[in-house]
Amino acid sequence: MTRIDAQTRLAGAIGWPIAHSLSPMMQNAAIEALGVKMVYVALAVEPDALGAAVRGAAAMGFVGLNVTIPHKETALEFLDEIEPTAAAIGAVNTIHFTEAGAVGHNTDAYGFTQTVMAEGEWMFRDLTALIVGGGGAARAMAAGAAAEGATKVILANRTRKRAEKIAADLGPRFPETRWEVVQASDSSLRNAIERSQLLANATSLGMKPDDPPPLPLDAIQPEHLVFDAVYAPAETPLLAAARGAGAIAIGGMGMLARQGARALAIWTGLEPDEELMLDALRQHLRAEEGVP
Ligand code: NAP
Repeated sequence: MTRIDAQTRLAGAIGWPIAHSLSPMMQNAAIEALGVKMVYVALAVEPDALGAAVRGAAAMGFVGLNVTIPHKETALEFLDEIEPTAAAIGAVNTIHFTEAGAVGHNTDAYGFTQTVMAEGEWMFRDLTALIVGGGGAARAMAAGAAAEGATKVILANRTRKRAEKIAADLGPRFPETRWEVVQASDSSLRNAIERSQLLANATSLGMKPDDPPPLPLDAIQPEHLVFDAVYAPAETPLLAAARGAGAIAIGGMGMLARQGARALAIWTGLEPDEELMLDALRQHLRAEEGVP
């Protein structure tokens, strides 16, 4: 490990809870490979302490912070500047402490689109993306798809109002993309699946073994590209069904690695090794899941 001395600067992830975060393991592997004097730690920050934590990190010369559940939206009020993608999404997952103050970024959209393009050899332009979910991940993935030129984004979420809010917020920011919200019911999802090329799960369904599928699995066709934001387990029932149907199936690990790599690039001005970060995650998760 890189020697810690008086020049070593800190970066970290703030969340509540944070004890199971994979970011320290993944980020420190990349930091070491870059050879920068930096250490990345996980910091448990209660919701009421968010402002004090962000101001405290700035005061102590932190390079930056990753922001995770439940702080991604509330962190906006403690920033001096918000980069346009993050402003469009309405949430930050990365803070960079600069001379101009605390600058908020959202690298989840990048993590999603780069992963689909790199691992799926797929372009968003002129295609329709169905995104199931209504939380921060759905918001970032919808913005990413639109920014990459998707013709249409169809949103479906158990709580329909949250999907409608995403469409209402992002629609004016991305007027060239058509926005549609459908019921998260079996028949509406089947109809939306028929009209979509990309099927993306942005809900937490698939994390627990007894979760119902986020969409009707037997509606998946070989021409679909299926993306699951869930990364643990690495192989969700949705991905297994997609593979079984002959479709391209991509899990959330690549998104996690690439959003982290982008954050590290923002903090250091260097290009981290995305593959190394992905490998670190893969090895860790496979060992945890007992997969050889
Ligand atoms: P969130 O804001 O808490 O949203 C959770 C989403 O899951 C909501 O759409 C929620 O629907 C839905 N949901 C939860 N339980 C459900 C159920 N029983 N039936 C139907 N829908 C259900 O979380 P988030 O930040 O958007 O994250 C969502 C998932 O993406 C998580 O698994 C997270 O780990 C993953 N994620 C992955 C990455 C990555 O880099 N791979 C990045 C961010 C997030 P309601 O709105 O109706 O509650």
